[in-house]
Amino acid sequence: MQRIYRIAVLPGDGIGPEVVEAAVGVLEAVQKVISGLRLELIYGEAGYNCIEKYGTNLPQKTVEMLRETHACLKGPMTTPEEPNAPPSVAVTLRKMFNLYANVRPCKSLPGAWSLKPNIDLVIVRENTEGLYSGIEYETSPGRGIALRIITREASERVARFAFRLAEQRRRYLTCVHKRNILRITDGIFRDAVFHVASEFPSVRVDEEHIDAMAMRLIKEPERFDVIVTTNLFGDILSDEAAQITGGIGLAAGANIGDNYGMFEPVHGSAPKYAGKNRANPIATILAAKMMLDWLGEREAAKRIETAVERVLSGGKVKTYDLGGTATTSDMGNAIIEKILEEG
Ligand code: NAD
Repeated sequence: MQRIYRIAVLPGDGIGPEVVEAAVGVLEAVQKVISGLRLELIYGEAGYNCIEKYGTNLPQKTVEMLRETHACLKGPMTTPEEPNAPPSVAVTLRKMFNLYANVRPCKSLPGAWSLKPNIDLVIVRENTEGLYSGIEYETSPGRGIALRIITREASERVARFAFRLAEQRRRYLTCVHKRNILRITDGIFRDAVFHVASEFPSVRVDEEHIDAMAMRLIKEPERFDVIVTTNLFGDILSDEAAQITGGIGLAAGANIGDNYGMFEPVHGSAPKYAGKNRANPIATILAAKMMLDWLGEREAAKRIETAVERVLSGGKVKTYDLGGTATTSDMGNAIIEKILEEG
């Protein structure tokens, strides 16, 4: 029996189209070896390149297309920084589709540099509020205020997601906050996590201040399993986490809600490498792997992960960030070959 999924593909800006093309090649290969899996890929426009044409970085027809799909594979997009420019597409989509959990795994991979050999943790970041509420005012020239909104409802929702994930892993969850300074907002977040903990008695729960956590992530990253935190802290911690296991070219992220998932590399559009066929596509390929996992296609996801690990441990195909000279397409093709070889 066929299992058909409609997948929105947003190639994005800068290196986006190149790394997404490699990931699409991998998705096509995996359909050849997993019986019954069919992915209908539907391409959409979004990002900086749309602003001149449509006056927005997220055209309405793209939003409508997304609503007709099961999940989205999104390339990185350039975000304009002027105060009146449209907000980041990723941030808009997270809010629009209520993708409240941002999931960023951080794992030592064979053949890629890692601070310690046995790191295997996941950061779950609250994705809809906190300092990314986007509500800012300039109350008088040169004096600005940003609102950091934290609600018990959103905090409990992301906490439940993180506890469920911890249940499937090593059953250890660390709540990261800064309640000693942000007493009200992080008080609400921290209490919500510990309140939800009672629903998951098999998971050991611990807490850490964000500054201490940033340090421990370097000192003893192998000790952590699932980390749950607020939006800005999670954004910073997950880039730090990416750097201790092979760098930003390998780091993938998922944005998950109750009814939709958007999967993307953690890195941005790296404009200086655009069109040069140099960027590492593994982050986007692992994002596609996370998408298959979320869709319940565990075997297909596993095939991709194994193929990536085999190419990395082979040590022959390395993009510049891994110390080699392979191109984006070399890396994509090597992973595709391994998937097809395993057949
Ligand atoms: P960036 O991640 O685009 O690039 C920083 C550096 O990381 C690059 O110069 C490059 O050296 C390296 N790098 C990034 N991706 C790589 C890859 N696949 N392979 C090898 N090396 C890689 O960060 P930035 O320069 O701060 O941002 C550029 C643009 O991307 C900005 O407009 C930013 O807003 C946007 N951005 C978008 C997203 C997203 O779409 N989710 C995320 C982050 C940044």
